[in-house]
Amino acid sequence: MELKEAIAVLENDVGQLKFVSKKDSAFMKVIAVIVWVFNRNFMTRYFTVIGTLYPPVGYDRTDDRVLWTLLHEVTHKWDEIKMGKLKYNISYLFPQIMGLSFLLCFLGFLWWPLFFFAVLVLLVAPIPSKPRSTIEARGYAMNILNEAVAIHGLDTVLMMTEESLTPLLLHYADKYYTSIFAAKEYYFMGVGMKNHVTRVMLEHALGILGIGPGADYPAMKLLRSMSSEDWEGLCKAKTFGTLVRKSSSS
Ligand SMILES: [Zn+2]
Repeated sequence: MELKEAIAVLENDVGQLKFVSKKDSAFMKVIAVIVWVFNRNFMTRYFTVIGTLYPPVGYDRTDDRVLWTLLHEVTHKWDEIKMGKLKYNISYLFPQIMGLSFLLCFLGFLWWPLFFFAVLVLLVAPIPSKPRSTIEARGYAMNILNEAVAIHGLDTVLMMTEESLTPLLLHYADKYYTSIFAAKEYYFMGVGMKNHVTRVMLEHALGILGIGPGADYPAMKLLRSMSSEDWEGLCKAKTFGTLVRKSSSS
């Protein structure tokens, strides 16, 4: 897929994302109950994107974090475009999705050996997942950039060299590994993969800035196009499409 086509897809799928606060969403309240066992701050601390962007209670669209969450989401969308929907979704849900094949055990009433499929239900357990960790590490590259930008400002970060930026980004990559990848809130997806997760986050964050591989990545264009803009104004933009259009026309 050409970059131009990909940007059109992003504009359509991500650009049309609606914002609904979690406190106004019955759907989010249902999910909060389901995930309560391993995540008790789902409503108050986490942004969620399922068709719509749901900021946590207490945040509104003018918060900078909304914008960065969208950039995180663009990363996922970009990966989905490159990998294809099927491969992306299976990778994201692996290995837990394999656990669904335990349902075949019900056919054991027709042919008893199929009862053995029941054991596959164990795959639904919080088993660390390298494919999911890799996808999220690319997404969280945005968040570690966000941290660096919050301290130094976007213009400064865009001008920093690989040598000066690396230790700063590594510091945040470390923090995110502990609080996200090795945490129960994320189903322990990256336990035992600290080096891999950190490397992917760092490489991708540098790639987004155009240092190293990943220079065809549209988020880099987005960031560069935003540097001289009024962030507050952008955050208030009606949909993310405004941002994506800006980058594709620049
Ligand atoms: Zn993500």
